[in-house]
Amino acid sequence: MSSKSLPEQSFESVWHPCTQMKLHETMLPVAIARGEGVWLYDYQGKRYLDAIGSWWVNLFGHTNPRINAAIRDQLDRLEHVMLAGFTHAPVVELSSRLSELLSNRLGHCFYSSDGASAVEIALKMSFHYWRNNGHPEKNRFVSLQNGYHGETLGALSVTDVALFTDAYNPLLRYNARVPTPDWRHADEGESPQDYARRAASALETYLAEHHAETAALIVEPLVQGAAGMAMYHPDYLKLARTICDEHQVHLIADEIAVGFGRTGTMFACEQASIVPDFLCLGKGLTAGYLPLSVVMTTNGVYQAFYHDNTARGFLHSHTHAGNALACRAALATLDIFEQDKVIEANRVTADYLNQAVRPITLHPKVRNFRNCGMIWAFEVETSDPAFASAFFQAALEQGLSLRPLGNSVYFMPPYIIDQQESELLVEGTLRALDRCATQIRGQ
Ligand SMILES: *Cc1c(COP(=O)(O)O)cnc(C)c1O
Repeated sequence: MSSKSLPEQSFESVWHPCTQMKLHETMLPVAIARGEGVWLYDYQGKRYLDAIGSWWVNLFGHTNPRINAAIRDQLDRLEHVMLAGFTHAPVVELSSRLSELLSNRLGHCFYSSDGASAVEIALKMSFHYWRNNGHPEKNRFVSLQNGYHGETLGALSVTDVALFTDAYNPLLRYNARVPTPDWRHADEGESPQDYARRAASALETYLAEHHAETAALIVEPLVQGAAGMAMYHPDYLKLARTICDEHQVHLIADEIAVGFGRTGTMFACEQASIVPDFLCLGKGLTAGYLPLSVVMTTNGVYQAFYHDNTARGFLHSHTHAGNALACRAALATLDIFEQDKVIEANRVTADYLNQAVRPITLHPKVRNFRNCGMIWAFEVETSDPAFASAFFQAALEQGLSLRPLGNSVYFMPPYIIDQQESELLVEGTLRALDRCATQIRGQ
């Protein structure tokens, strides 16, 4: 394929995700010819800093030489074999390395390709566990206000983002919501920790009444991504773990966005010293290379399905489960974490960025500036519903890929971002804010 241009006629044949296609009448999608490190290059050679890691997946830059080499090596051995009746080295090695990262407390890995499918698997497995244990009435789920868990129908039924759920409500089964611990909802003078404790007591009240019909609580640990990078105190997770145990309800940790170092620890749950019953991973699992997701669970759950009767097994079948190329990409990703001591190195990067972003925190239209590990976010005071697309456009002009969620602007850069690139990110963001000045009207 030519690398000089994009075939013109192909444009409308692609129906883009999360996009009102009519908007492309005035604003064509940016055609990317190649990527290298934190940079994406268009066909004219203009470069864009991938400041949101291509929807939160890219950890170690584009066309990373070490991941490329692992995939090339695997390509000449085995690209894929079905995982029913067969197995292969990359999937076995990946499963044991992931289990070790969780001190072997979640020693069983069930694979699929995307995050929403992992959430479906965790929900089905939790319900089926209770069914196998004589409690088919435990068939409801509870999730957090403003939570996001993907957009297949089961995942949407535990998602609380109107933009994604509204049109499909007639198709969704009702599941309960409990208050979010997001500290932006705290009362004046109330600390994030106090507010997290207050939200946990609402969970306690809910489960005291409804535990008999509830299979699981599902949460995004520490950061609610699609809610606009809402952050909360780890005490919520600690208390939620205890409350779920007291009421015989599973805890599903959806770390699809926050796993693999994003919040400053390998997994966000570590910051609350808890282990969930189900851990969903995706996105950064292959450092953004290939679609792969996994649900990790305990031996207790695994044993509830282990039986002479086939129907007691977990028969969920996903065609590309444990794809060999994707598993090799994930193994190369884990190698980089070890070899480059990424969690420690990220602390230095985060310290540097926290200094560099000061001028943004002082901008008169910026509110709620916050940071957790390698995520930064803030709200822009504006009443313009078109702010997000105007800012996206202004950022592109500054050579940045930034896609606000409503009026929440966030950075989720690849971990390899260096000091000079961090400065370009901050300077470009400030200029984009000024360019959007006409959109930014006081409220
Ligand atoms: C992105 C995301 C999902 C869905 O993952 P897909 O791969 O887009 O299906 C689920 N949960 C969380 C927390 C996510 O951020």
